[in-house]
Amino acid sequence: MVKLAEWRGKEIFRKYGVPLPTGRVARSPSEAEQWVRDGTVPLPCVIKAQVLAGGRGKGGAVRFAQTPEEVRTAAAAILALDFKGEKVREILLEGKLAIAKELYVAIALDRSGRTPILLTSPQGGVEIESVDDAAIVRQPVHPFPGLTGYEKRRAAQSLGLSGAAARSLSTLLDALWKAFNAEDAELIEVNPLALVGESLVALDAKVIIEDDATFRHPEYSEILDDRTPLEEIAREKGIAFVQLDGNIGVIANGAGLTMATLDVLMEFGGRPGIFLDLGGTDDAAKVTEAFLLMAQAKPRAVFLNIFGGVTRCDTVANGLVQAMAEIPAAQRFPLVARIRGNNEVEGIEILRRAGIVALSSLKESAQSVVAAAQRDAPAGGPA
Ligand code: ADP
Ligand code: MG
Repeated sequence: MVKLAEWRGKEIFRKYGVPLPTGRVARSPSEAEQWVRDGTVPLPCVIKAQVLAGGRGKGGAVRFAQTPEEVRTAAAAILALDFKGEKVREILLEGKLAIAKELYVAIALDRSGRTPILLTSPQGGVEIESVDDAAIVRQPVHPFPGLTGYEKRRAAQSLGLSGAAARSLSTLLDALWKAFNAEDAELIEVNPLALVGESLVALDAKVIIEDDATFRHPEYSEILDDRTPLEEIAREKGIAFVQLDGNIGVIANGAGLTMATLDVLMEFGGRPGIFLDLGGTDDAAKVTEAFLLMAQAKPRAVFLNIFGGVTRCDTVANGLVQAMAEIPAAQRFPLVARIRGNNEVEGIEILRRAGIVALSSLKESAQSVVAAAQRDAPAGGPA
């Protein structure tokens, strides 16, 4: 999922002729001040954190300013924010508009309906999830004819627009529809779409580009690389590896088992934070590689949960034993292994000979790894 920051979404909007406030991105308070001093951005203006999380308005990440000095102060405050865990590196400055009404418009992919869908609501400016269902009009759009006059009229009606404003909406919807298709979007959301006088202006932009189409969009390669250095290495090796907040490493095979393992650890009070999905592999060297990667992520404890199928338990055990021999003492972590399934007995035997205990109960093993991660002592050898 390639979620674009507001300003990138607005670049797309501009390309297709969606009306926008006059704006400019800045990366420092002095740059922000400069854009209003030299008239690039009119005053009063709004200063908005360019983060991917929503709810910036409520969260203090959207501020208004009347003077260049206020712009500088607001910019500094926003650039210092850690908004929902995301550091603010860029801000968008835009002229402040006199909003008569905040509306909601989106084009999304309705996967169950297997069709694009046009969503409109007169209750814009708040997150759509909190809008009463009855206040949202959903119209599936047939991809071949695209948006028809009927759908646009119904959208206008649902938003309470008529006359010039309704015509403005029709043009805007055509532009969004074009952008949705040509840019391979799976979501284009304008919230709020502001009524300013008789015209409509997109005040916010949320654009998500369909993952499978990213190869057609080299322009996003830099944001695609929101990976940690270890995740980058893993990707090159074809290993599914994700680093989040948390101190327990989880190595499992298959997305389903990996997810279920995380749930179980959470259930027992653990904080799983590093996930590695071995997938279906029958290559012990790949398992070793995966473990070495995990060691570099410095987990407090690691839980190996394997259900042997294509990935045989003895293959995993051999890969693991090899990895343990290669991991430098300083990077060792307590390890709890649980292996079931194909060649389970051989696998357990291989581990046992290397001094690694494999449990078979999920509950027991989860509890034991959570306890290991919570112990104060730094990571020791294999448990
Ligand atoms: P978020 O969705 O993250 O809260 P928005 O971009 O929707 O951020 O901005 C939040 C609110 O700030 C909007 O609902 C609108 O009321 C106000 N706002 C945003 N941009 C402008 C603007 N250019 N002029 C006036 N008000 C604005
Ligand atoms: Mg918004």
